[in-house]
Amino acid sequence: MWEKNNTKKVVIIGGGLVGSICACFMAKRGYAVEIYEKRDDIRKTPEIRGRSINLALSHRGRNALKALGLEKEILDSAIPMKGRLLHSKKGKLKSILYDPSFNQCIYSVGRNYLNKKLIDAASSYPNVNIYFNRHLTRANFNEGTVTITDSKTCEESQVNADLFIGADGAYSKLRLAMQQTAQFQYTQLYIEHGYIEMSIPPENGNKMIPNHLHIWPRGKFMMIALPNSDSSWTVTIFMPFDIFENLTTGNEISRFFRETFPDSVDLIGESSILDIFMKNRPSELISIKCSPYHIGSKFLLIGDAAHAMVPFYGQGMNAGFEDCCLLDGILEKNNDDIAMSVEEYSGVRAVDAHAICELAMYNYIEMRDLVNTVGFRWRKCVDNV
Ligand code: FAD
Repeated sequence: MWEKNNTKKVVIIGGGLVGSICACFMAKRGYAVEIYEKRDDIRKTPEIRGRSINLALSHRGRNALKALGLEKEILDSAIPMKGRLLHSKKGKLKSILYDPSFNQCIYSVGRNYLNKKLIDAASSYPNVNIYFNRHLTRANFNEGTVTITDSKTCEESQVNADLFIGADGAYSKLRLAMQQTAQFQYTQLYIEHGYIEMSIPPENGNKMIPNHLHIWPRGKFMMIALPNSDSSWTVTIFMPFDIFENLTTGNEISRFFRETFPDSVDLIGESSILDIFMKNRPSELISIKCSPYHIGSKFLLIGDAAHAMVPFYGQGMNAGFEDCCLLDGILEKNNDDIAMSVEEYSGVRAVDAHAICELAMYNYIEMRDLVNTVGFRWRKCVDNV
């Protein structure tokens, strides 16, 4: 498992999906790896609700898992989604397969499950140390150090490394420090749509047509549902904030759902919809582009820290996993010359990641407007799915 004897030290900021898989790649190269993660160890804490409960895992992400020998285990507990299942307002259904010829599919996988498995995988390398409840507070690019703060005691320590990898997500502290250096380009865009997550409980889950990503496209907005391994479905409504804000009373919310997504009401349960809408504000969606992804010879950004994207292309995590494969390949090619590799990685990756961010933005229009683009075929095909 530990393939090389490499005395260099890599510090990874953030033990989320991308930070933990990156640790595996770096450990496999033989580096001494340290992960500093702001949160508690998710393997020991109750599930925290935040971002999406489940994610679509596709080719890019699977390649990274395969390279680490983790693909089979993860796919065994994931749910294949072989196509989109469109719901019309009248409750008619239409299946659009992703790949009718070769039967390829994407997979729905639980975020917490995957993150726990990746932390486990990283911990299994003897050359990885993970420090929870520790977060990066400052980076000193001239000295080549970072300041790590203990989230409980507030004690600070200076940490050295040959390579610092910022995998600390869309609101990255390492990127924030980079933004203050010359020639660092950065743009962010909050879209005017937010999202709220709901759930179809396991007892109703079997009323859904299985092995699909369900979509209720409604032109200006949409709702989707992805399956979970306990037969429940995670349902997410994406909608402009002003429409959310106009739904202030139970009656308004009920009427809106009954008129807009009628077949979903009994599946989710009306009281559950009301409860979630009354208690939760919609979450924001942000798209971030920056470049370069490196500063000097040893600071690098990956994952959402480098390229947070709107979720409509299902590629944020997948692209982050691909970052790690690419970095691994470049280090291999350059015989572990870190300075040369971070510069090369940054040059190659930023162009592609910017393109994925754009595609993600475009795919929202495609998904929510499917009702219009395939509408002419509804009447012929919808009844026999
Ligand atoms: P994060 O998951 O944000 O992890 C960052 C980690 O860093 C966290 O553990 C955090 O605690 C830690 N951290 C933060 N600050 C610090 C600090 N200062 N010091 C130390 N640690 C720190 N992607 C897909 O591929 N498929 C999908 O279907 C999909 N669906 C999505 C649905 C929604 C609604 C959303 C919002 C996103 C979706 N994504 C999807 C995108 C995906 O969630 C992200 O791309 C992915 O989580 C990025 O992983 P990351 O490790 O880079 O960042």
